[in-house]
Amino acid sequence: MKNIPSIQHSPSQPQKLAALRQAHQDWTNTPDVLTRLTRRLSTTLSLEQQLAILADELVAIVPFTALNYRHQIGKQDFVYTTGMGGPHRCEYRLSLEGVSYGTLVLHRRQRFSEQELEGVEMILSAAICSLRNACRYASIEQASLTDSLTGIPNKRALDDALQRSSLLCERHGGPYSLVLCDLDHFKMVNDAHGHVVGDHLLQMAAAEIENSIRTSDTVYRFGGEEFAIMLPHTSEQDARDVAERVRNAIAAIRVDGGEKELTVTTSCGVATFLPNESPEAWLARADEALYDAKHQGRNCTRVFPTIS
Ligand code: GH3
Ligand code: MG
Ligand code: MG
Repeated sequence: MKNIPSIQHSPSQPQKLAALRQAHQDWTNTPDVLTRLTRRLSTTLSLEQQLAILADELVAIVPFTALNYRHQIGKQDFVYTTGMGGPHRCEYRLSLEGVSYGTLVLHRRQRFSEQELEGVEMILSAAICSLRNACRYASIEQASLTDSLTGIPNKRALDDALQRSSLLCERHGGPYSLVLCDLDHFKMVNDAHGHVVGDHLLQMAAAEIENSIRTSDTVYRFGGEEFAIMLPHTSEQDARDVAERVRNAIAAIRVDGGEKELTVTTSCGVATFLPNESPEAWLARADEALYDAKHQGRNCTRVFPTIS
């Protein structure tokens, strides 16, 4: 007897649309845990928000008391922590296609069973692509705010910081100071020794400024040979002292310049935030103080006086 070939009917378009409608209904009304997790993760590129979502979905399946995540993104040591630890822990090194995307540790009082560990792994493998995207986004965002020559935050980062700091000052008060530093006669350094030496000096100046300030202070490359330092909780007098420290640190730089050692000086302008002033006005006052320093002979610090 001959085999009668069965005729395969592909679904018609109305059937396909009906199936899609059903799938969409299931997807929105009663999603399974992995669908819900990946859907929620896809709503944000913020690594912090993604970790909060992951913790929220994970704890409903495998209870834990603390989740810690750590990842080195560029120069930043990104740390996310939620809850309080316990003596038992399970640790996962997250990676995709050979690239590491951080370490995640769960803590709690009881041991994690084999089935629970398997559950955690299934959830992490569903989350890893989103986490990778969030890590990449964080690293691109960081690069866009970093000066490539010196590795310190750039002008764009300074604009953001000025906005944030003035809002903070308006809300909480307290002194906040800004120092602008401009290397003196830097064009002559380039003209005499070339751009490579000039670039090297700029890198050294940035490093010296970083070494002269507290960890709560931040230095930015504001322009070609200009740096800005944001000093939270710092009065006018204290900011002047910081500027002087920075000025002396830069003056102490020595670079091999052939016959004679090469040195550089800097002029500094200081302005402490005034209530109700815009970030632009604050920056303009620091710039005016810097202009004074230049006109009074360079290699000195001038403060824009505040009436108090
Ligand atoms: P002043 O004391 O008035 O500030 O004099 P100056 O020569 O420092 O100022 P001016 O604004 O005339 O020149 C700034 C110089 O900084 C010009 C440019 O050659 C140099 N410069 C700016 N950006 C860079 C950079 O990325 N690398 C190097 N090597 N030099 C730079
Ligand atoms: Mg300049
Ligand atoms: Mg200059």
